[in-house]
Amino acid sequence: MGRRQTMMEKYKQQMKAYRKKRMQLDNTPFLPPDGNVYVMNSRDATKKVKAEVLKTRTKQHREVIISLACPVCGNPMDWDSKWEAFICVKHGKKAIYEMVEGT
Ligand SMILES: [Zn+2]
Repeated sequence: MGRRQTMMEKYKQQMKAYRKKRMQLDNTPFLPPDGNVYVMNSRDATKKVKAEVLKTRTKQHREVIISLACPVCGNPMDWDSKWEAFICVKHGKKAIYEMVEGT
């Protein structure tokens, strides 16, 4: 029993490390089933705005978002995996848009 637990623990740790690594490599957000994407400017986290999806890609039978139009200037914004957000630098200050739940 003791040995089995050890193997199980080892397995769990490996899975955890694997998932973490995979997330670091690609954490591109999935397109919500209804296709509506809402973002929030991280500098102004009170307003939620709908963003236009410009480009998607199919990954593991699901759609992931490649680029979104900036809600302010319409500039195509690519996903930034380091910030885990879409970033626009075309209008004024750097704007960081985090994806939020609809409704
Ligand atoms: Zn912009």
